[in-house]
Amino acid sequence: MTKYALILPDGAADEPLGELGGRTPLEAADTPNIDWVSVNGRQGCLRTIPAGYTAASDVATLSVMGYDPATHYSGRAPLEAAARGIKTGPNDLIFRCNLVTIVDGTMRDFTAGHISTPEAERLIADLQPLGADLGIVFHPGISYRHLAVLRDAADVQCECTPPHDIPDEPVAGRWPSGPGAERVCEVMRRAQTLLADHDVNHVRRDLGENPATNIWLWGQGRRRPLATFEARYGVRGACIAAVDLINGIAVTAGLTTIAVKGATGYLDTDYRAKGRAAVAALDKYDLVVVHIEAPDEAGHLGNAVEKVKAIKNVDAWVVGPLLERLRREERWRIAVVPDHPTPVATRKHSAVPPPFCIAGTGITPVMAQPFSEKQAVQSDLQIERGHEFMEFFLKS
Ligand SMILES: [Zn+2]
Repeated sequence: MTKYALILPDGAADEPLGELGGRTPLEAADTPNIDWVSVNGRQGCLRTIPAGYTAASDVATLSVMGYDPATHYSGRAPLEAAARGIKTGPNDLIFRCNLVTIVDGTMRDFTAGHISTPEAERLIADLQPLGADLGIVFHPGISYRHLAVLRDAADVQCECTPPHDIPDEPVAGRWPSGPGAERVCEVMRRAQTLLADHDVNHVRRDLGENPATNIWLWGQGRRRPLATFEARYGVRGACIAAVDLINGIAVTAGLTTIAVKGATGYLDTDYRAKGRAAVAALDKYDLVVVHIEAPDEAGHLGNAVEKVKAIKNVDAWVVGPLLERLRREERWRIAVVPDHPTPVATRKHSAVPPPFCIAGTGITPVMAQPFSEKQAVQSDLQIERGHEFMEFFLKS
């Protein structure tokens, strides 16, 4: 049986940056292990965001995991709800509910200063009774990331804007719009009034931290099941991720999710612990998927130095140990796939096909070049339908 490791450094792809001497963060970072994969295997690009879709991790990760977004995309929130075991009915519409900082009508911070979970829990608990007559139920999550379920919402077909897509931009004209949006906007307005004078926010302002001035509802959708990995590829897999969205895709695809202590989904995540857990998972599973959110977060911050550091850490503590472990197997494969670019210059996701590299049994090197966006685009390995990558990785 072949052993597989798939590493997903979220948003790691980028563009050449002046501050990095014209290199991209992937090129600038010291990544001997990823470069080994690329030199001794192959690199190329895959289109993870099909035309007409928003450049987001839900669509991109579905593609990478082998599911065509055109038939399987359900929105981001239903996947997160799946990760957290939240039960919903067919007429329920599930939203992501961010705590955000809006100042003078401008989206100053889509994370409300990475508000602490205990503070967030207090806010969400106090919001709960507000929406009872509107049929909205809040489910507290981690830091600024929460969920809200709108009951009996078969008629609601509104469009919402991801708050990280409008950093430092006016929110006017970006509130939910379209059929049924009025009910959703009313929830957001009531929350704004309650949050304006909340104790938690008084304390945050006093400490110079961004207050949670608003909730922002987005990423909505209804639950949609997926065919499992085992049924499709005959592979038993596990997934290590700190982000609900990725765990939701994993759970829906029939992978076992492994929680790792110290994995935060942020720049301070414990890379070593994730790498160790991934190596251990290969004793039990055919496939381990490791997702690291940090490069994406650094991109959203517009911080090239942090992005380079995050990529270097992924290389040293996740790719390195996995490579070492896999090389002891008779048959093995490894792939490194950033789901999409999150360029430091724009601080937003981009739909440009990201590079990937793959090595192991049956993969013959062609270009033998270190991993980089520039090289990958020159390769003749361009996967236009990104969801075909998984078949290529597991079966070709
Ligand atoms: Zn992403």
